[in-house]
Amino acid sequence: MTAPLTLSPSERPAPAFLGDGTPKRLLIGGAWVPARSGETFETRDPATGQVLADVSAAGPDDVAAAVAAARRAFEAPSWADITPYERSKVLLRIADVIETHTEELAVLDSLDMGGPLWLTRWMVEHAVEVFRHYAGWPTKIYGRSGPSDPSTLAYTVRQPLGVVAAITAWNGPILQLAWKLAPALATGNTVVAKPAAWSPLSALRVGELLAETGLPAGVVNIVTGGAPTGEAMTGHPDVDKISFTGSLAVGRRILEVSSRDLKRVTLELGGKSPTIVFDDADLEAAAKGAVAGFAQGSGQGCVAGSRIFVQEPVRERFRELLVREMRSYALGDPFHPGTKAGPLATREHFDRVAAYLDVAREEGGVLHTAGELGHGLYMPPTLVEQAGPGARVVREEIFGPVAALLTFTDLDDAVAQGNDTIYGLSASVWTRDLGRAHRAAARLRAGTVWINTFGEMSAGSLPFGGFKQSGLGREHGLEVLDAYTETKTVMVRL
Ligand code: NAD
Repeated sequence: MTAPLTLSPSERPAPAFLGDGTPKRLLIGGAWVPARSGETFETRDPATGQVLADVSAAGPDDVAAAVAAARRAFEAPSWADITPYERSKVLLRIADVIETHTEELAVLDSLDMGGPLWLTRWMVEHAVEVFRHYAGWPTKIYGRSGPSDPSTLAYTVRQPLGVVAAITAWNGPILQLAWKLAPALATGNTVVAKPAAWSPLSALRVGELLAETGLPAGVVNIVTGGAPTGEAMTGHPDVDKISFTGSLAVGRRILEVSSRDLKRVTLELGGKSPTIVFDDADLEAAAKGAVAGFAQGSGQGCVAGSRIFVQEPVRERFRELLVREMRSYALGDPFHPGTKAGPLATREHFDRVAAYLDVAREEGGVLHTAGELGHGLYMPPTLVEQAGPGARVVREEIFGPVAALLTFTDLDDAVAQGNDTIYGLSASVWTRDLGRAHRAAARLRAGTVWINTFGEMSAGSLPFGGFKQSGLGREHGLEVLDAYTETKTVMVRL
């Protein structure tokens, strides 16, 4: 790797939303208010290290006010009693207003978490598609009539849960917000959303844009902050459901806290996904897919294919292709048109990922890296060979551009090794033999299996989520109804 691609300060965007340095406020009940404690935190641009904005740190009182506003909005006729068709129209207007601001929102996410502009643009476009997908739901949520004796009418209805706490990770800010807001609103819930402290800006801007959509005040509230804010949301007795995207450790904590009052919970957690390459695969395509699998977004993706298994006879050839592809994976300023991957999100996260490179060496791994460290928070893709199955780089989610390269003998061995993880979010399989591909797909314990491709996401039509400790429940698909509604049975004596 040569030095990362750079831009001069004048070539970088300076969105008006960043404003004059006044701290960003919380959206509670339709009003923008400071945190009651007056506390703020900084969000920084990882490419330059500069502070982008001071942001209000919501404490328990602010969270309680947001939950109360969401409860009032849930019960108010302006939201509770509108027709399904009216609710569809609100979702369509949200999609339109986000679409109109695609570039601005993509720029905010790129500035805030370092993702290249091509990726953050895709995320905003995807968010728009997600809102349009869910706009179709309100008019298609059916109950059933049940068998009963002739003197009784029995039927079911699907009803919203109430107040949803939507807590998201920093790596896909607007995408994750859309994945939670759209289904929650389509099913008639109200929301208190908390973006991650490392990338809160696009959610705050979306909060402003919602004022243009006719959404009643309090239906969506946005609080900012880190773990204490999230804890206050999880522990609040008037929150009915938690929709969480983030790490396994915090997911476990959320389950513990929410078990006190049996809140509904869906968890989208981490992964250690296998990329399995058979000897008959199109090796060039597989190498491109495998490198995108662990280096796209600088490896900061839940579905990252961070364990690459190649069938023994083609190991040497495939490693050469991987290294060649890694070398062409241009690092650079998120706004440089040639950039494939930007910096890692923060110094703290960079140091954590870099420490894994030392761990890999200490554990006997041989490192193939596409460049050197020492250029800010840019990290070249690194492949670790000869790490044993118990090595930490093989077992733990690193969340950076680091993958282990391992080998397998046959389908049984590939499936056994692929499944040898506590996670089960995704897997990709590369082979020209479709029978073998489907046999592998059937046996891999993962929520999504990609065959001869990597990373494709539906904008709502197909379920997404994890087996094992990669999560609980599903977002999207028909399954999403279970995530955001209760089913009520009604029996009527005629
Ligand atoms: P994280 O778990 O540290 O934080 C996620 C969110 O939870 C943030 O908003 C954070 O402020 C909040 N939080 C932290 N402590 C909390 C607590 N005690 N109670 C309630 N909320 C709390 O995760 P992260 O570092 O932001 O994101 C990276 C992780 O997210 C990785 O493990 C990644 O795999 C996962 N992820 C999963 C998916 C998915 O769809 N499965 C998507 C993206 C990221």
